[in-house]
Amino acid sequence: MKIKEILAEKRPTISFEVFPPKTEDKYESVKEAALEIAKLKPAFMSVTYGAGGGTSRYTVDIASTLKEQGHVTPIAHLTCVSSTKEKVKEVLQELKEKKIENILALRGDIPEGGPIAHDYRYASELIYDIKQAGDFCIGAACYPEGHVESANKSVDIEYLKEKVEAGCDFVTTQMFFDNNILYNYLYRIRERGITVPVVAGIMPVTNVSQIKRICQMSGTALPVRFRALLDRFGDDPAAMKQAGIAYATEQIVDLIANHVNGIHVYSMNKPDVARKIRENLSEIIR
Ligand code: FAD
Repeated sequence: MKIKEILAEKRPTISFEVFPPKTEDKYESVKEAALEIAKLKPAFMSVTYGAGGGTSRYTVDIASTLKEQGHVTPIAHLTCVSSTKEKVKEVLQELKEKKIENILALRGDIPEGGPIAHDYRYASELIYDIKQAGDFCIGAACYPEGHVESANKSVDIEYLKEKVEAGCDFVTTQMFFDNNILYNYLYRIRERGITVPVVAGIMPVTNVSQIKRICQMSGTALPVRFRALLDRFGDDPAAMKQAGIAYATEQIVDLIANHVNGIHVYSMNKPDVARKIRENLSEIIR
């Protein structure tokens, strides 16, 4: 099924993200975790694309396993900055063969030392190529706090509009920990004429070092209320996990109460975290 059709139903949905293994020996454990999460019957599941594209095979394989064995609609991520047009064509062909209809089209982070290929500069160019290549449902990334490389949010929103005009059907946000940032962003992009569905990306933080690193890289702000959790429970992994799941649950409840219906959980290959969140929302997302 195409994700745009799922989102068009305008009811609360939850989806989960997994990332592929970096090496063959981890493949089975990642596949097992992904299939465990699929048992929660999410609206769809995304499979990220390893930076550099060296593990693209695993992205396609895990996405295909989710479809065939997990009976869940998959979306395969695809990045372009380290890729050639030829390689993109190859991956699109594989996705077609495996009947994977949904792609999250991304630029990818620029590697230290600069891009290793020069066919693509921005995600909008990839979106354009995917659109020409077949009947895919295309998602893209958006940044309620602005992308780290952007001079300001207004510029970023202009480039988001380019991605939508190139053919993207919906957007998924970078994680955020203050819902007001998303509400403000939604107001601004709607005002700019961007009308595609926005899926809110929520990260349940279960590990302090991981979140500090991610926030440094992405520029995501940590609200005082959230920092208090890190300070109080950061040294106690079990308590931190419980607090992180509770915070993410509260964020999701508030989003749905405010009619943000598409919720995407960065579940980081952790079935227990995904399950707990699903249980916490059992009557809110039916
Ligand atoms: P773009 O939309 O191309 O934007 C990149 C920068 O260029 C922005 O600052 C933008 O404002 C600017 N820009 C865009 N168009 C133009 C233009 N025409 N002229 C000048 N400037 C322009 N990374 C991975 O490696 N694998 C993944 O699976 C992955 N999944 C992700 C999923 C989500 C939901 C999100 C939010 C991010 C994900 N990322 C992933 C990270 C992403 O690749 C990085 O954030 C990357 O730096 C930007 O990708 P983009 O697709 O948003 O790029």
